[in-house]
Amino acid sequence: EIDGLSQLEKLQVLGQGNGGTVFKVRHKQTLALYALKVMQCDRGTPPNPQELNILRQTNSPYIVKCHQIFTKPSGEVSILMEYMDAGSLEIYVKSRGRLSEDIICTISRQVLKGLFYMHSRNIVHRDIKPANLLINEKMEVKIADFGISKIIQQCLERCSTPVGTRAYMSPERLDTGKHGGYNGFAADIWSFGVTMMELYMGYYPFLEPGQEPDFPSLMLAICFREPPSLPECSSEKFRDFIRCCLQKGDPSKRWTASQLLSHPFLADA
Ligand code: ADP
Repeated sequence: EIDGLSQLEKLQVLGQGNGGTVFKVRHKQTLALYALKVMQCDRGTPPNPQELNILRQTNSPYIVKCHQIFTKPSGEVSILMEYMDAGSLEIYVKSRGRLSEDIICTISRQVLKGLFYMHSRNIVHRDIKPANLLINEKMEVKIADFGISKIIQQCLERCSTPVGTRAYMSPERLDTGKHGGYNGFAADIWSFGVTMMELYMGYYPFLEPGQEPDFPSLMLAICFREPPSLPECSSEKFRDFIRCCLQKGDPSKRWTASQLLSHPFLADA
């Protein structure tokens, strides 16, 4: 049990994200490695204890484990997490190139099991994207930031941008710009589908490679055009799997995590 930040030694910065910096840290006594996400929250708006509890109680091999949460009177919140030594899939693809269908199949299964675990506990992620899928040397893929995104949202209350990177947002969410009122479970599945497509294609599939992801271009591509489909070289099962994730008109027609887990793309592999 780690009861203070003073027991941890910061080794390096792993990444910078939505309102926080993630450090690689070492426990001075046991030499165990962890990731520590440090965020500055507004004074007077401490994270909701209920949500912190959800974070602590989450226990799935497909979700990055959250070990401890430290808060300071200054409003600084630090979350001690399991360290994923191969970083995010965003970085992985940038350095090694796009992923094969076989690997996407393995990754999809793990991510969907993580989504299923959280969705059946009534928790939505809101920010599924390659940077939030972390990988380790054992080739285990886990979802990061579950629950954390809600805490961050409270921390950044003054900022009007809803949590969730716009590029991965579902059309119904982009369109209304509302925080509530949409089906968060289906929105996670949309983001999952876009993410798997991007890992396969090697670039964000809604825009031309290199095109600026500004708000008008994204609105046009996501809300008003047909969802992109996979190139001909992909298998029919994979293309159908992605189509099931990117159902547009009626989000309730989008497949759920458990339905996707028995889709032939995953079930027959
Ligand atoms: P964002 O706010 O964009 O969702 P985070 O702040 O959670 O991203 O993390 C930023 C980056 O830090 C990630 O993309 C990843 O590269 C790295 N990172 C985050 N958590 C961990 C972890 N548990 N283990 C290893 N690297 C991590």
